[in-house]
Amino acid sequence: MLEHIAFIGLGNMGGPMAANLAKAGFKVSAFDLSPAAQERARAAGCSIAKTPAEAAIGADAVISMLPNGDICESLYISNGLLAALRPGTLVIDSSTVSPATSRRLATAAGKHQLRFIDAPVSGGVAAAAAGKLAFMCGGDADTVEAARPLLAAMGANIFRAGDHGSGSVAKICNNMLLAVHMIGTAEALALGVQNGMDPKVLSEIMLKSSGCNWSLEKYNPFPGVMEGVPASRGYQGGFMVNLMLKDLGLALEAAHSTGASTPMGSLANSLYALFRQQEADGGNLDFSGIQKLFYKPSAG
Ligand code: NAD
Repeated sequence: MLEHIAFIGLGNMGGPMAANLAKAGFKVSAFDLSPAAQERARAAGCSIAKTPAEAAIGADAVISMLPNGDICESLYISNGLLAALRPGTLVIDSSTVSPATSRRLATAAGKHQLRFIDAPVSGGVAAAAAGKLAFMCGGDADTVEAARPLLAAMGANIFRAGDHGSGSVAKICNNMLLAVHMIGTAEALALGVQNGMDPKVLSEIMLKSSGCNWSLEKYNPFPGVMEGVPASRGYQGGFMVNLMLKDLGLALEAAHSTGASTPMGSLANSLYALFRQQEADGGNLDFSGIQKLFYKPSAG
Protein backbone atom coordinates (compact mmCIF):
# COMPACT_ATOMS: atom_id res chain seq x y z
CA MET A 1 0.00 0.00 0.00
CA LEU A 2 1.52 3.31 -1.09
CA GLU A 3 0.59 6.15 1.21
CA HIS A 4 3.67 8.14 2.09
CA ILE A 5 5.72 9.54 -0.79
CA ALA A 6 9.07 11.35 -0.65
CA PHE A 7 9.43 13.77 -3.58
CA ILE A 8 12.86 15.21 -4.47
CA GLY A 9 13.11 18.09 -6.96
CA LEU A 10 10.24 20.57 -6.94
CA GLY A 11 11.01 22.68 -10.01
CA ASN A 12 8.84 23.53 -13.02
CA MET A 13 7.87 19.88 -13.43
CA GLY A 14 8.38 18.34 -9.98
CA GLY A 15 6.47 21.12 -8.20
CA PRO A 16 3.13 20.50 -9.94
CA MET A 17 3.68 16.72 -9.91
CA ALA A 18 4.14 16.72 -6.12
CA ALA A 19 1.12 19.02 -5.81
CA ASN A 20 -1.03 16.56 -7.78
CA LEU A 21 0.04 13.68 -5.51
CA ALA A 22 -0.93 15.73 -2.43
CA LYS A 23 -4.24 16.64 -4.10
CA ALA A 24 -4.93 12.95 -4.73
CA GLY A 25 -4.57 12.25 -0.99
CA PHE A 26 -1.00 10.94 -0.72
CA LYS A 27 1.12 12.14 2.19
CA VAL A 28 3.98 13.93 0.43
CA SER A 29 7.28 14.78 2.15
CA ALA A 30 9.23 16.95 -0.24
CA PHE A 31 12.75 18.30 -0.63
CA ASP A 32 14.38 20.84 -2.95
CA LEU A 33 17.47 23.00 -2.59
CA SER A 34 15.51 26.13 -3.56
CA PRO A 35 13.57 27.90 -0.79
CA ALA A 36 11.09 29.30 -3.36
CA ALA A 37 10.33 25.80 -4.66
CA GLN A 38 9.92 24.59 -1.07
CA GLU A 39 7.40 27.36 -0.36
CA ARG A 40 5.32 26.54 -3.44
CA ALA A 41 5.22 22.86 -2.46
CA ARG A 42 4.24 23.71 1.11
CA ALA A 43 1.38 25.86 -0.19
CA ALA A 44 0.28 22.89 -2.34
CA GLY A 45 -0.06 20.60 0.69
CA CYS A 46 3.36 18.92 0.92
CA SER A 47 5.44 18.85 4.09
CA ILE A 48 8.99 20.12 3.58
CA ALA A 49 12.02 18.17 4.79
CA LYS A 50 15.48 19.60 5.51
CA THR A 51 17.29 16.81 3.62
CA PRO A 52 16.37 14.09 1.10
CA ALA A 53 16.99 11.46 3.80
CA GLU A 54 14.58 13.21 6.15
CA ALA A 55 11.92 13.33 3.41
CA ALA A 56 12.37 9.57 2.93
CA ILE A 57 11.91 8.55 6.58
CA GLY A 58 9.00 6.09 6.62
CA ALA A 59 8.30 6.62 2.90
CA ASP A 60 6.73 3.82 0.83
CA ALA A 61 8.06 5.39 -2.38
CA VAL A 62 10.59 8.00 -3.47
CA ILE A 63 10.11 10.02 -6.65
CA SER A 64 12.82 12.26 -8.13
CA MET A 65 12.47 14.98 -10.79
CA LEU A 66 15.95 16.48 -11.05
CA PRO A 67 17.86 18.42 -13.73
CA ASN A 68 20.30 15.72 -14.86
CA GLY A 69 21.85 12.30 -14.34
CA ASP A 70 24.89 13.48 -12.35
CA ILE A 71 22.59 15.04 -9.74
CA CYS A 72 20.47 11.85 -9.61
CA GLU A 73 23.52 9.62 -9.14
CA SER A 74 24.88 11.93 -6.42
CA LEU A 75 21.57 11.93 -4.59
CA TYR A 76 20.93 8.20 -4.72
CA ILE A 77 24.43 6.69 -4.75
CA SER A 78 27.23 9.02 -3.54
CA ASN A 79 25.08 10.76 -0.94
CA GLY A 80 23.57 7.48 0.19
CA LEU A 81 19.81 7.92 -0.21
CA LEU A 82 19.35 4.38 -1.56
CA ALA A 83 21.23 2.96 1.43
CA ALA A 84 18.90 4.83 3.81
CA LEU A 85 15.65 3.36 2.39
CA ARG A 86 13.78 0.34 3.78
CA PRO A 87 14.10 -2.79 1.62
CA GLY A 88 11.14 -3.00 -0.75
CA THR A 89 10.74 0.77 -1.09
CA LEU A 90 9.67 1.82 -4.58
CA VAL A 91 12.07 4.29 -6.26
CA ILE A 92 10.87 6.18 -9.33
CA ASP A 93 13.25 8.46 -11.22
CA SER A 94 11.27 10.69 -13.58
CA SER A 95 14.20 12.93 -14.51
CA THR A 96 15.37 12.90 -18.13
CA VAL A 97 18.71 11.08 -17.93
CA SER A 98 20.73 8.74 -20.12
CA PRO A 99 19.70 5.07 -20.32
CA ALA A 100 23.14 4.24 -18.85
CA THR A 101 22.39 6.40 -15.79
CA SER A 102 18.99 4.72 -15.35
CA ARG A 103 20.62 1.29 -15.50
CA ARG A 104 23.30 2.28 -12.95
CA LEU A 105 20.56 3.56 -10.62
CA ALA A 106 18.58 0.32 -11.08
CA THR A 107 21.64 -1.81 -10.29
CA ALA A 108 22.47 0.25 -7.19
CA ALA A 109 18.82 0.09 -6.04
CA GLY A 110 18.79 -3.69 -6.52
CA LYS A 111 21.82 -4.04 -4.20
CA HIS A 112 19.70 -2.50 -1.43
CA GLN A 113 16.65 -4.71 -2.22
CA LEU A 114 14.72 -1.69 -3.55
CA ARG A 115 12.25 -1.71 -6.45
CA PHE A 116 13.34 0.78 -9.14
CA ILE A 117 11.85 2.16 -12.35
CA ASP A 118 13.03 4.90 -14.68
CA ALA A 119 9.88 6.84 -15.60
CA PRO A 120 10.69 9.99 -17.59
CA VAL A 121 7.79 12.06 -18.85
CA SER A 122 6.52 13.75 -21.97
CA GLY A 123 4.13 16.65 -21.84
CA GLY A 124 5.87 19.67 -20.34
CA VAL A 125 4.85 22.09 -17.62
CA ALA A 126 1.20 22.48 -18.68
CA ALA A 127 0.64 18.71 -18.69
CA ALA A 128 2.42 18.41 -15.33
CA ALA A 129 0.03 20.98 -13.84
CA ALA A 130 -3.02 19.32 -15.42
CA GLY A 131 -1.97 15.81 -14.28
CA LYS A 132 -1.80 14.73 -17.94
CA LEU A 133 1.83 13.64 -18.35
CA ALA A 134 2.82 10.55 -20.33
CA PHE A 135 5.14 8.25 -18.33
CA MET A 136 7.58 5.95 -20.16
CA CYS A 137 8.61 3.30 -17.67
CA GLY A 138 11.60 0.99 -17.61
CA GLY A 139 11.62 -1.87 -15.13
CA ASP A 140 9.92 -5.16 -14.45
CA ALA A 141 6.19 -5.35 -15.10
CA ASP A 142 5.27 -5.90 -11.43
CA THR A 143 7.13 -2.79 -10.33
CA VAL A 144 5.54 -0.68 -13.07
CA GLU A 145 2.13 -1.97 -11.93
CA ALA A 146 3.00 -1.15 -8.30
CA ALA A 147 3.87 2.41 -9.35
CA ARG A 148 0.69 2.87 -11.39
CA PRO A 149 -1.47 4.51 -8.66
CA LEU A 150 1.19 7.18 -8.15
CA LEU A 151 1.79 7.74 -11.86
CA ALA A 152 -1.97 7.92 -12.50
CA ALA A 153 -2.23 10.81 -10.02
CA MET A 154 0.25 12.75 -12.17
CA GLY A 155 -0.37 11.51 -15.69
CA ALA A 156 -2.88 10.35 -18.27
CA ASN A 157 -0.80 7.77 -20.15
CA ILE A 158 1.45 5.16 -18.55
CA PHE A 159 3.57 2.94 -20.78
CA ARG A 160 5.94 0.12 -19.89
CA ALA A 161 8.75 0.59 -22.42
CA GLY A 162 10.72 -2.50 -21.34
CA ASP A 163 13.47 -3.31 -18.85
CA HIS A 164 15.49 -0.82 -16.80
CA GLY A 165 16.72 2.03 -18.97
CA SER A 166 14.01 1.54 -21.62
CA GLY A 167 11.94 4.44 -20.29
CA SER A 168 14.94 6.71 -20.84
CA VAL A 169 15.53 5.20 -24.30
CA ALA A 170 11.89 5.91 -25.28
CA LYS A 171 12.13 9.47 -23.98
CA ILE A 172 15.28 10.40 -25.92
CA CYS A 173 14.02 8.71 -29.12
CA ASN A 174 10.76 10.66 -28.86
CA ASN A 175 12.47 13.99 -28.28
CA MET A 176 15.02 13.44 -31.05
CA LEU A 177 12.12 12.82 -33.45
CA LEU A 178 10.31 15.90 -32.08
CA ALA A 179 13.39 18.05 -32.83
CA VAL A 180 13.67 16.63 -36.34
CA HIS A 181 10.02 17.17 -37.31
CA MET A 182 9.96 20.65 -35.76
CA ILE A 183 12.99 21.67 -37.82
CA GLY A 184 11.55 20.08 -40.97
CA THR A 185 8.24 21.86 -40.42
CA ALA A 186 9.94 25.23 -39.91
CA GLU A 187 12.07 24.71 -43.02
CA ALA A 188 9.05 23.79 -45.18
CA LEU A 189 7.00 26.76 -43.95
CA ALA A 190 9.91 29.14 -44.63
CA LEU A 191 10.35 27.72 -48.14
CA GLY A 192 6.65 28.21 -48.88
CA VAL A 193 6.54 31.77 -47.55
CA GLN A 194 9.69 32.76 -49.44
CA ASN A 195 7.99 31.46 -52.58
CA GLY A 196 4.94 33.60 -52.05
CA MET A 197 2.62 31.38 -50.02
CA ASP A 198 0.50 32.30 -47.03
CA PRO A 199 1.79 30.17 -44.10
CA LYS A 200 -1.78 29.52 -42.93
CA VAL A 201 -2.85 28.17 -46.30
CA LEU A 202 0.31 26.08 -46.63
CA SER A 203 -0.24 24.69 -43.12
CA GLU A 204 -3.86 23.75 -43.95
CA ILE A 205 -2.72 21.94 -47.09
CA MET A 206 0.11 20.02 -45.39
CA LEU A 207 -2.18 19.10 -42.46
CA LYS A 208 -4.33 17.16 -44.92
CA SER A 209 -1.35 15.84 -46.89
CA SER A 210 1.53 13.50 -46.25
CA GLY A 211 3.63 16.20 -44.54
CA CYS A 212 1.24 16.26 -41.57
CA ASN A 213 3.00 15.88 -38.22
CA TRP A 214 2.63 16.87 -34.53
CA SER A 215 4.64 20.11 -34.83
CA LEU A 216 2.43 21.29 -37.68
CA GLU A 217 -0.80 20.13 -36.05
CA LYS A 218 -0.34 21.15 -32.43
CA TYR A 219 2.62 23.53 -32.25
CA ASN A 220 2.89 25.47 -35.52
CA PRO A 221 6.23 27.36 -35.40
CA PHE A 222 5.26 30.14 -37.84
CA PRO A 223 4.01 33.30 -36.07
CA GLY A 224 0.36 34.13 -36.69
CA VAL A 225 -0.76 30.70 -37.92
CA MET A 226 -1.99 29.24 -34.64
CA GLU A 227 -3.22 30.87 -31.44
CA GLY A 228 -2.00 29.88 -27.97
CA VAL A 229 1.34 28.42 -29.04
CA PRO A 230 4.80 29.91 -28.29
CA ALA A 231 5.10 31.21 -31.90
CA SER A 232 2.19 33.56 -31.16
CA ARG A 233 3.98 35.12 -28.17
CA GLY A 234 7.56 35.64 -29.36
CA TYR A 235 8.54 32.05 -28.53
CA GLN A 236 8.27 32.69 -24.80
CA GLY A 237 7.23 29.83 -22.51
CA GLY A 238 6.89 26.22 -23.69
CA PHE A 239 9.85 23.84 -24.06
CA MET A 240 13.17 25.65 -23.86
CA VAL A 241 15.94 25.19 -26.44
CA ASN A 242 18.33 24.45 -23.54
CA LEU A 243 16.21 21.43 -22.58
CA MET A 244 15.95 20.25 -26.18
CA LEU A 245 19.74 20.46 -26.48
CA LYS A 246 20.08 18.46 -23.27
CA ASP A 247 17.82 15.72 -24.68
CA LEU A 248 19.58 15.70 -28.06
CA GLY A 249 22.89 15.37 -26.21
CA LEU A 250 21.54 12.31 -24.39
CA ALA A 251 20.32 10.84 -27.69
CA LEU A 252 23.73 11.33 -29.31
CA GLU A 253 25.46 9.86 -26.23
CA ALA A 254 23.22 6.78 -26.45
CA ALA A 255 23.91 6.52 -30.20
CA HIS A 256 27.64 6.76 -29.61
CA SER A 257 27.59 4.10 -26.90
CA THR A 258 25.90 1.56 -29.18
CA GLY A 259 27.25 2.60 -32.58
CA ALA A 260 23.75 3.59 -33.78
CA SER A 261 23.67 6.02 -36.71
CA THR A 262 21.65 9.19 -35.99
CA PRO A 263 22.52 11.71 -38.72
CA MET A 264 19.22 13.61 -38.37
CA GLY A 265 19.68 13.82 -34.61
CA SER A 266 23.23 15.13 -35.07
CA LEU A 267 22.06 17.77 -37.53
CA ALA A 268 19.17 18.78 -35.24
CA ASN A 269 21.66 19.15 -32.39
CA SER A 270 23.92 21.38 -34.53
CA LEU A 271 21.03 23.54 -35.72
CA TYR A 272 19.71 24.08 -32.18
CA ALA A 273 23.25 24.91 -30.99
CA LEU A 274 23.57 27.45 -33.83
CA PHE A 275 20.18 28.93 -32.97
CA ARG A 276 21.17 29.30 -29.32
CA GLN A 277 24.35 31.13 -30.35
CA GLN A 278 22.66 33.44 -32.84
CA GLU A 279 19.58 34.52 -30.89
CA ALA A 280 19.74 36.74 -27.82
CA ASP A 281 18.83 34.50 -24.87
CA GLY A 282 18.19 31.75 -27.46
CA GLY A 283 18.59 28.94 -24.94
CA ASN A 284 15.58 30.18 -23.01
CA LEU A 285 13.31 30.53 -26.05
CA ASP A 286 10.82 27.81 -26.97
CA PHE A 287 12.21 25.16 -29.34
CA SER A 288 9.76 26.19 -32.10
CA GLY A 289 11.79 29.43 -32.32
CA ILE A 290 14.07 27.46 -34.68
CA GLN A 291 11.72 28.96 -37.30
CA LYS A 292 13.85 32.12 -37.09
CA LEU A 293 16.87 30.25 -38.41
CA PHE A 294 15.05 29.87 -41.76
CA TYR A 295 12.90 32.97 -42.02
CA LYS A 296 12.85 36.40 -40.45
CA PRO A 297 9.99 38.62 -41.66
CA SER A 298 12.33 41.58 -42.25
CA ALA A 299 14.41 39.44 -44.61
CA GLY A 300 11.34 38.15 -46.43
P1 NAD B 1 13.83 22.76 -13.00
O1 NAD B 1 15.20 23.29 -13.16
O2 NAD B 1 12.67 23.68 -13.07
O3 NAD B 1 13.71 21.96 -11.60
C1 NAD B 1 14.72 21.18 -11.05
C2 NAD B 1 14.64 21.35 -9.54
O4 NAD B 1 15.60 20.48 -8.94
C3 NAD B 1 14.96 22.76 -9.07
O5 NAD B 1 13.91 23.25 -8.25
C4 NAD B 1 16.27 22.60 -8.28
O6 NAD B 1 16.37 23.49 -7.16
C5 NAD B 1 16.16 21.17 -7.83
N1 NAD B 1 17.43 20.54 -7.49
C6 NAD B 1 18.60 20.59 -8.17
N2 NAD B 1 19.52 19.84 -7.53
C7 NAD B 1 18.91 19.30 -6.46
C8 NAD B 1 19.33 18.42 -5.42
N3 NAD B 1 20.57 17.95 -5.38
N4 NAD B 1 18.42 18.08 -4.48
C9 NAD B 1 17.16 18.55 -4.52
N5 NAD B 1 16.70 19.40 -5.47
C10 NAD B 1 17.57 19.75 -6.43
O7 NAD B 1 13.70 21.60 -14.10
P2 NAD B 1 12.34 20.96 -14.66
O8 NAD B 1 11.91 21.70 -15.87
O9 NAD B 1 11.39 20.74 -13.54
O10 NAD B 1 12.90 19.56 -15.20
C11 NAD B 1 13.14 18.46 -14.33
C12 NAD B 1 13.46 17.24 -15.17
O11 NAD B 1 12.36 16.98 -16.03
C13 NAD B 1 14.68 17.40 -16.08
O12 NAD B 1 15.39 16.19 -16.09
C14 NAD B 1 14.07 17.74 -17.43
O13 NAD B 1 14.91 17.37 -18.51
C15 NAD B 1 12.79 16.93 -17.39
N6 NAD B 1 11.68 17.42 -18.23
C16 NAD B 1 11.38 18.73 -18.28
C17 NAD B 1 10.31 19.16 -19.08
C18 NAD B 1 9.93 20.62 -19.16
O14 NAD B 1 9.16 20.98 -20.05
N7 NAD B 1 10.39 21.47 -18.26
C19 NAD B 1 9.56 18.22 -19.82
C20 NAD B 1 9.87 16.87 -19.71
C21 NAD B 1 10.94 16.48 -18.91
